[in-house]
Amino acid sequence: MLRRKKKSSSSSGLEIELPPIDFKPAIRDKQEQQGVMIACRGMEQFGPTSVMVAMALHHRADQILLDCTAQGVAVRYRVDGGWEAMPPLDRATGDGVVVILKRLARLNSADRRNKQQGKIPLTYKAVDWIIEFNSQGTPTGERVLMRIEPKKQVLKTLGDLGMREKMQAQMRDLLNGHDAMFLFSAPPGHGLPSLWRIGLDAADRFVRDFHSIEDTSVDEPEQINITKHLFDSSKGETPMNVLKSLLLKQPDVLVFPDLVNAEVVSLVCEEVLEEHRFAITRVSASSAVEGLLKLLATYPGSVKQLVKAANGVVNQRLLRRLCTKCRQPFQPTPQLLQKLGIPAGRVQALYQPFIPPPPEQRVDANGKPIEIEICQQCGGRGYYGRAGIFELLQINDAIRQAILKKPEPAYILQVARENGFVTMQEEGVLAVATGMTSLQELQRVLNPPKK
Ligand SMILES: [Zn+2]
Repeated sequence: MLRRKKKSSSSSGLEIELPPIDFKPAIRDKQEQQGVMIACRGMEQFGPTSVMVAMALHHRADQILLDCTAQGVAVRYRVDGGWEAMPPLDRATGDGVVVILKRLARLNSADRRNKQQGKIPLTYKAVDWIIEFNSQGTPTGERVLMRIEPKKQVLKTLGDLGMREKMQAQMRDLLNGHDAMFLFSAPPGHGLPSLWRIGLDAADRFVRDFHSIEDTSVDEPEQINITKHLFDSSKGETPMNVLKSLLLKQPDVLVFPDLVNAEVVSLVCEEVLEEHRFAITRVSASSAVEGLLKLLATYPGSVKQLVKAANGVVNQRLLRRLCTKCRQPFQPTPQLLQKLGIPAGRVQALYQPFIPPPPEQRVDANGKPIEIEICQQCGGRGYYGRAGIFELLQINDAIRQAILKKPEPAYILQVARENGFVTMQEEGVLAVATGMTSLQELQRVLNPPKK
């Protein structure tokens, strides 16, 4: 992967081959852009910078974290949601790498203290990517976080996210409802922004007009066929600043990445229940029931209206997919199947990841080294990519009454289950039964260690 005709000379005078990566600093003037590239290529750390970013893309990392201290620079990649330590850089190399990245992101490379944010567009193996670069001084040095995203979104449909077809249809029905409010939710780090973008895409935006009310200081991605209305919270503005004039235009659907305050919630409930509009919002929560209760607890003055308006809540968690090249089948015991609630005879095999032993353990009884082939697809991680599992709570009158009577998670869950609700646990078992993921992974995601 690290082959290319262009060459860069290292400090030792040796020529090293650069990976096939083209940085394209966001500058309109081509000559100025070229000037920045010549300056960056002229630095001896340009090679290590290119290799670090190319390796991250090669390993499918979506984030790179650099911790710069007086001793050197620790490098970590985030792959499928897990952080992996890479070999550290010495201080001189690391400092040079950070200078180059800041120049590519059009930032002040001399400033290592203030928070800085910029973008680095690039092409790697004919695919366009964008790095969102963030740096900030810390007590011991500086921290750099880079988020890497493909320029063209790869995940487009609820099916791409991993949602079953039946649930997709149910969710579309809820999103195309009237006189109601729908809620998106996921715990932190479980893909709420993608679920939000793709979920809104799944709603019918051609027969109804969608309007999104957003804070200018939060960088929400553009959505096709949704008109944006901006307010500036840094100037003390709230959605109310744009909502009243928007309502004069009789919008069908109001989209709120954040409802912001009680006044907005009260007005939105009124519009939904009395003016036949539809509202969509989102909240960070680890289950559908928790998401709904969190919304109610945040706006206690509007509980009755919110309960009346809410028609559904979706919740997502991300699981690592087993690598299909190296996953290992095993015959589950009847006890295990019973514990999982899978009827006997339904599945012949479950799967677990193949994780090769560390190099020092790759020896036989006589201490002779054994060759163990490392899977080419997953690089020995045992997993390749992630997919969502989902809960979709469809709120009917029985559930509404339960919430108003006793707003406690266990009680609501019980009533919801009596009304056909399938929990994340049950959805997860389906993912294990089909071999999409392992039991270990499901347990890791559903029962994270308490902090
Ligand atoms: Zn593999």
